[in-house]
Amino acid sequence: MLRFNDIADRVLEYDSECDLELLQRAYVFTAKVHEGQERLSGEPYLIHPLEVAGILVDMRLDEVTIVAGLLHDTVEDTLASLEEIERLFGDEVAFLVEGLTKISKVQFRSARARQAENFRKMLVAMSKDIRILLIKLADRIHNMRTLHFMPRAKAQVIAQETLEIYVPLAHRLGIDWMKRELADLAFRTLHPDVVVEFERMLRGRSDERERYIEEVKGIMARALEEADLSGVVSGRLKDMASIHAKMADQGLSLDQIYDVIAFRIVLDGGTEQVYAALGLVHSTWPPVPGRFKDYVALPKANGYKALHTTVIGPYGERIEVQLRTEEMHLHAEMGIAAHWRYKGHGGREQDDENFNWLRQLLERQQELDDPHEFLDTVKVDLFADEVFIFTPNGDVINLPRGSTALDFAYAIHSEVGDHCSGAKVSGTMRPLSRELESGDTVEVMTNPNQSPKKDWLEFVVSGKAKSRIRHAVRLAENERSRELGRGILERELRKSGVSLARVLETDEMEPVVARYVKGGVEDLFAAVGYGRVSARAVLEMLRPDLSTPPVEEVTKGRKLRDLFRRERKTGGSGIRVDGHGDVLVRFGQCCSPLPGDEIIGFVTRGRGVTIHSRECRVAFELDKERCIDVEWEEASDIKRRIRIKVTSRDAPGLLAKVTKTISAAGINIGSARIDTHDDTTATQTFDLWVGDVATLREMMKDIQKVKGVLVVERVRS
Ligand code: MN
Repeated sequence: MLRFNDIADRVLEYDSECDLELLQRAYVFTAKVHEGQERLSGEPYLIHPLEVAGILVDMRLDEVTIVAGLLHDTVEDTLASLEEIERLFGDEVAFLVEGLTKISKVQFRSARARQAENFRKMLVAMSKDIRILLIKLADRIHNMRTLHFMPRAKAQVIAQETLEIYVPLAHRLGIDWMKRELADLAFRTLHPDVVVEFERMLRGRSDERERYIEEVKGIMARALEEADLSGVVSGRLKDMASIHAKMADQGLSLDQIYDVIAFRIVLDGGTEQVYAALGLVHSTWPPVPGRFKDYVALPKANGYKALHTTVIGPYGERIEVQLRTEEMHLHAEMGIAAHWRYKGHGGREQDDENFNWLRQLLERQQELDDPHEFLDTVKVDLFADEVFIFTPNGDVINLPRGSTALDFAYAIHSEVGDHCSGAKVSGTMRPLSRELESGDTVEVMTNPNQSPKKDWLEFVVSGKAKSRIRHAVRLAENERSRELGRGILERELRKSGVSLARVLETDEMEPVVARYVKGGVEDLFAAVGYGRVSARAVLEMLRPDLSTPPVEEVTKGRKLRDLFRRERKTGGSGIRVDGHGDVLVRFGQCCSPLPGDEIIGFVTRGRGVTIHSRECRVAFELDKERCIDVEWEEASDIKRRIRIKVTSRDAPGLLAKVTKTISAAGINIGSARIDTHDDTTATQTFDLWVGDVATLREMMKDIQKVKGVLVVERVRS
């Protein structure tokens, strides 16, 4: 168990003037207020703030940060108050603890809109002082290290959250060790069986691997020595998550031991020595074309600098090598924390520069009227690999990989993006949708008559471009649905001899507006256009006497309404239309989309929105003007009927096996049909009730594994 004295000793190693008395007081205070509380491990709670402080000490952070680390849970989880903290430890510590308290209950596993709101809250708190984020990350590291004490299901949710939120944040701050450890711990929690298998295989070849690493290191070290360069060569196992991804990607097996090792040369001296060493590596072994990356000349957005290359080694295997100076190495490991070392406030300017992305991200947020898109766009910005693009003046713009000239235009300025009409890539006119490559020079053409198009969303990648275009498209869509709704209403009223224009001259519409929408009559038109309110209902309210339809129709109308009402009660449609969850929707019979399928909505006149699969042929032919963004709501447990077809050998017992596989996946069979063919094959067609695509895919994979099964496919008409 980590003790306070260990922490004190380690702080003194790098900061001999540290106020030990302050640390001591913070420790005593934490011990007192957390007294009697326990961690899930059964250990005293005090262990947690101590370990968090220990991690901050490892990062050589200043004493204020360490004190705040010791106190980080006190206001949230004990009777201690913020005033107390401020009185005892000063306002700087209190400010950090307050920030941490605000975000301590932030959870990302709730409904999407709330999730986004929480994330924003967290970013706002962190953008005030980067140390809040550093303490939060240290907190998460210790919680992940002790995750095995938690029930499995809960642990997996936390691991997933770590992977989606905290790993990218650590990456973005350039703190590589933290990013790797968090990703590794999350991977171990999410894929325990892969890990067991992995470790077994790695153990089996460990001697051979050690010999190989020593051999390659030896060759590199000798080459350095002969060239009078001094540096340290190391070879290490790559982290499990990345090996796993690579194996799954390229269908590799672990027999190819070379694929799991990466080499690194950390050189004494400066940039020159790094390039010299690269020359040596390339003259010792032939480089693999296209694999050389120069992050020294063009550092990543998080400040990362190094040279990366891949060469063909002594056994014809690929060797990945990273080359850096010590300074680059320190920066790669510590990232932004390197600038926040004790009393190192001189690094503040650099810190600001490294931290700008966070402020920009928040500013952009304010342009988004709908918070649920936030995570999408933010995640791209946090996760994505980068490309470097040049302006005609030679300035470098970093963009997420996959970006297009349009992303580039939006990165220059929102207005440039909005009016972008064409682009020259390295001197040649290219389509806006073309993916850019590092080193491209892009010149943007603008036209004042150009405005953002919905199809642009299909190829832009960067958060900024996405959010701007969505915003503009939404405005235009609202405008269209207002016109559409007005038209529908006009016709419906005219059928009963009522003039909409006349009605609008009076205040007759007011109660109708008040009943159906927040806002004015324009919003009512929009609601009718979107199908949220039926024109008939408006008429019924305006002229109760006029609108009584024939008896038969009343019954039919009631039935329909009852039907929808019933569906609402059982949990809604599970669809959000344009950000709203309360819209009347129906599902296309043609394609029976399932939660998880890519979907698109089609606004029908006064009858709500029909949901189609993106791949549906019917959807393809729909009037683009009336298509609308829709998405699955997260927590919906509605089952939908879909059809699959299994082609297999015509063997006895096979149907039973397939049926059993389906039931084992918890899926209900609505109906089944079997046809046998002359060529000794059989097709089995099943109508199934399924909740989501992931479950369906898993089950189809399982069926595919049944011996004798040839093809499993989902049928869409
Ligand atoms: Mn904590």
